[in-house]
Amino acid sequence: MKFTDTHCHLDFEALTPLQTSVPNSLLAECFNQHIHQIIVPAISPDNWSNVLALTNFNQELSNNSCKIFACLGIHPWFLDNLEHQDLTLLAEKVANNRANIIAIGEMGLDAVIAKQQNNLPKQLEFFDYQLQLAKQQKLPVIVHHRGTHNETITLLKQIKVPQAGIIHAFSGSYQQACQYIDLGFKLGIGGTITYPRAKKTINAIKRLPLSSLVMETDAPAMPLYGFQGESNSPLRLINVFEKLLSIREEKPEVIAEVMENNISALFKLPTNE
Ligand SMILES: [Zn+2]
Repeated sequence: MKFTDTHCHLDFEALTPLQTSVPNSLLAECFNQHIHQIIVPAISPDNWSNVLALTNFNQELSNNSCKIFACLGIHPWFLDNLEHQDLTLLAEKVANNRANIIAIGEMGLDAVIAKQQNNLPKQLEFFDYQLQLAKQQKLPVIVHHRGTHNETITLLKQIKVPQAGIIHAFSGSYQQACQYIDLGFKLGIGGTITYPRAKKTINAIKRLPLSSLVMETDAPAMPLYGFQGESNSPLRLINVFEKLLSIREEKPEVIAEVMENNISALFKLPTNE
């Protein structure tokens, strides 16, 4: 079996203490656990270069290490000091690094931040622009959501990105999940399902087609149940998989294989072998 962490902030200090070098031992350990690919989303202009730099190490990494794939985007938590021109900058950065990225993201809407910063219109502007950019560049998207299913689904229906993408850290009902799936999206399954309180999400994941699921950790964020207060790691992807096995009825090999196929269907990843 092989696994892919479809959402890991590998460039964050907790995982890559020296911003200039790749965390070799962590990547080798991931590979030992059969985690052969890690997708790294960007969050703001501040980390675009670091995220891109991580992919430069793919050539240097040994065959006994997992491979890193980058995305470029602007996360709704970090709009405070940004202006419309940062979106133009993003479009330029994407065009100049088109061969080194596999998606636009992460982007999206966050109701908690919208309330705190009173910035829903700005969040919508940034989300809208990035969806259009993905469409233009024929790239999939990584979508953040928190308390914003209705607004997110409305916008995704308005601006249909043919390559679709991943609804990061999906939590919600079966009906909500089906709306994303109808638009071609896959659902990012992570630490949320390890929490006993996540009954609605667990029930949804039990019933959804396996062809709509991919796994992620969001490390170093979103620690799993039992690890609260600790920094999360891409190695915990295995714990997410084990929890998924207890929810689904298919054999482990089948679940793993279908999820890997789901990733190949979404992204154009240079092959490892
Ligand atoms: Zn994230």
